[in-house]
Amino acid sequence: MAILKIENLHAKVEGKEILKGVSLTIKGGETHAIMGPNGTGKSTLASVIMGHPRYEVTEGSITLDGEDVLEMEVDERARAGLFLAMQSPAEVPGVTNSDFIKTAMNARLDEDNKLSLFKFIRSYDKAVSELKMSEDLPHRYLNEGFSGGEKKRNEILQMKMLKPSIAILDEIDSGLDVDALKVVGDNVTEMKGQDLGLLLITHYQRLLDYISADTVHVMMQGRIVKSGGVELMKKIDTEGYEWIKDELGIEDERVITEEDEERIMLGSCATKEALEK
Ligand code: ADP
Ligand code: MG
Repeated sequence: MAILKIENLHAKVEGKEILKGVSLTIKGGETHAIMGPNGTGKSTLASVIMGHPRYEVTEGSITLDGEDVLEMEVDERARAGLFLAMQSPAEVPGVTNSDFIKTAMNARLDEDNKLSLFKFIRSYDKAVSELKMSEDLPHRYLNEGFSGGEKKRNEILQMKMLKPSIAILDEIDSGLDVDALKVVGDNVTEMKGQDLGLLLITHYQRLLDYISADTVHVMMQGRIVKSGGVELMKKIDTEGYEWIKDELGIEDERVITEEDEERIMLGSCATKEALEK
């Protein structure tokens, strides 16, 4: 059973601290949800766990089964069993979907255990049909020209094939209509078990009607400010987040104020211009 342990995690981007002391433990068999309004640091947490090079960890630790995740390269993290379904998956022209997934799967196996093409195709086709995706998908370039909903299904397709031990799904519900949400929800629910620890990131309680969670954490100002069970999920559904802010005396839940955000944006444009000269 896998254990992902995050302790007092602080991280910066463009010199600005976004994560301000996140602590969270996810074990195989558990499903946690992180909820919170936009701009509170949820996607940043996902990126930092996976090792996105833009984010600098300044304090705290992440371990998977006692191994130091922060010491691992991105591909090592994937091989160790971590998986992220991204909020906005990138389009990669020139690489077909099936090649991409096959390469990712083989990277996790040793030399003499490589996947046979036959086995790969059989399980790939099965996953495509379970996700009710179109059959030309294997031959199309990764996410290129995919609708928002197709991109999300494609992330779940990768998860089904890679069988991670800890999976983070970042806003897997955004851009999905109710039918697609049901398909995705059923497929994720089917993968649940002792071998999988799940972290669902969402700002709508609706997702949790399709994939149930045991624990919910509310993120504001770059840290988890409240955790609870079903009652908390229900209260957020009916009352939103304002009461939590009132209770905790939080005025602005975002990590970065609007003015600061503009400054950072302007700053990075100015840097880009300077680099282009
Ligand atoms: P959430 O997923 O909760 O909406 P994010 O983690 O995406 O929030 O963002 C939190 C804050 O960090 C936002 O103000 C966002 O603009 C800022 N931020 C995140 N990533 C970057 C980045 N790569 N460059 C500049 N600012 C960033
Ligand atoms: Mg986000």
